[in-house]
Amino acid sequence: MANPKKKRREDLKKGEVLCSYCTAKCCRYFAFPIDTPKKRQDYDYLRWFLLHGRVAIFVEDGTWYLMVYADCKHLQEDHRCGIYEDRPQICRDYTTDNCEYEDDALYDKFFETPEQIWEYAQAVLPASQGRTFSSEPMSAREVVLPVLG
Ligand code: SF4
Ligand code: SF4
Repeated sequence: MANPKKKRREDLKKGEVLCSYCTAKCCRYFAFPIDTPKKRQDYDYLRWFLLHGRVAIFVEDGTWYLMVYADCKHLQEDHRCGIYEDRPQICRDYTTDNCEYEDDALYDKFFETPEQIWEYAQAVLPASQGRTFSSEPMSAREVVLPVLG
């Protein structure tokens, strides 16, 4: 059984596996890059994402990402993979060599609530685009739902 008690990576003994000391951080979310917001409507899409809860937006090295907090359905109570032999390729490709084991979820930018992204938009958009918008949602007539690709 995996032991969630934290151990420093450099203190691992020969043959020990780092995942045995982790609560499976990498199996509890997924994230993918999204277009960098440039205009008011872009920020309104991001606000829409964040209205759903259990999502966040972060920026790392200039790239914007949408992160969805969701435990994998095959993650077991002992933090091990329930389909290890049949796990998806992306799981196989991810190794402990450069994983987030000791990360503190620090990003260049991080937004957890719609209010945060809206406030940020108001700060960075030119006055002609953003400073005048209210905290109220856009009207239904203005909204065009984004196509996720
Ligand atoms: S790969 Fe890294 S983050 Fe994922 S379970 Fe193992 S130690 Fe934790
Ligand atoms: S399939 Fe296994 S390794 Fe992949 S996310 Fe789910 S529990 Fe983690």
